Amino acid sequence: MNQVHFSPDQRPVYQQLSAQVNQYFRQQGIAKSGDQRLYRKAILIVLLFTASYAALLLLPSPWSLAAWFIHGIATALVGFNVMHDGAHESFSASRRLNRLAALTFNLIGSNRFYWAQKHNRNHHSFTNVDDVDEDIDALGLFRMSPHQRRFWFHRYQHLYVWLLYTLTSLFWFFALDYKAYFRQKIAQRSFSHPLSIADHAEFWASKLLYLLVYVALPLTLSDSTTVIAGFLLMHAVLGFLFAVVFQLAHIVDQAEFPQPDANGTLSDEWATHQLRTTVDFATQNRFLTWALGGLNFQVEHHLFPRVSHIHYPALHKLLQDACAAQGHPVRSYPGLWAALKGHYRHLRQLGQHD
Ligand SMILES: [Zn+2]
Repeated sequence: MNQVHFSPDQRPVYQQLSAQVNQYFRQQGIAKSGDQRLYRKAILIVLLFTASYAALLLLPSPWSLAAWFIHGIATALVGFNVMHDGAHESFSASRRLNRLAALTFNLIGSNRFYWAQKHNRNHHSFTNVDDVDEDIDALGLFRMSPHQRRFWFHRYQHLYVWLLYTLTSLFWFFALDYKAYFRQKIAQRSFSHPLSIADHAEFWASKLLYLLVYVALPLTLSDSTTVIAGFLLMHAVLGFLFAVVFQLAHIVDQAEFPQPDANGTLSDEWATHQLRTTVDFATQNRFLTWALGGLNFQVEHHLFPRVSHIHYPALHKLLQDACAAQGHPVRSYPGLWAALKGHYRHLRQLGQHD
């Protein structure tokens, strides 16, 4: 396959939007990174994460299962609010703090190097493009893009996919990470650079740490049935939350799936591509905005990944007007339920029609 790329023309849409966003931050006199609001939230989430971990170790069964369940939610909150911003270097103005925030991914099961390649490099550049964006590759188990082959069982995918989502993080941490590591590429796109010795060491250290923290240590304090049940329960919660939150931004009936031409060239400039493939949801919902780390403002996030999510609600109106003026209105579902229905309709359509 040819390397996929955007057309090398000027980028008037992006230049216009970024000029307006830069002007906003200048006028407000504030930094684009996170501030006290984000740090307070991060401390609260880390406390929940630590307390639920202590509880799953120390409580007797079946109460410990409730702690495993809550720990699954806490882990998702770390991913949405701390790791994701850290990996985009938007958590803080401090490089060290961003690195520390990104490193939380090594503790919760995956690896920051893998995430940087999969998410920052592939997904954020070539959103919803087959063979590059691994987020739309379900290995044929279900069909997310109209350019993927349809099998007979996809007819029911809008029903069974919700069950598969509970396996997302298990599959990711125990299969996809290793697949990427040994192939040195994500989807059909090679890593940006070969792994250094430090990268190799970090990969294996984080995988070992995970097994120590989530299998070996719990087994010294609880029976194996409880640990296995708790571990699977935690992953069911985590996997479901990870999958659904990310699916609602791209795998919905308002999003598009552009394909490159025979030379690998995509027709739009990068910002226009993001506006066609990405959708906001529930932007008025303050609880979701807090809990999801701004992942309900994915249009804002895809256009300005280096801006911390705490600024997205303020940027929303500005970008709505600016994007509409550029002829590419921000796509959005008014609420969570509307977005879930948009996802359901998209899967049903792709499962039943070519
Ligand atoms: Zn991102």
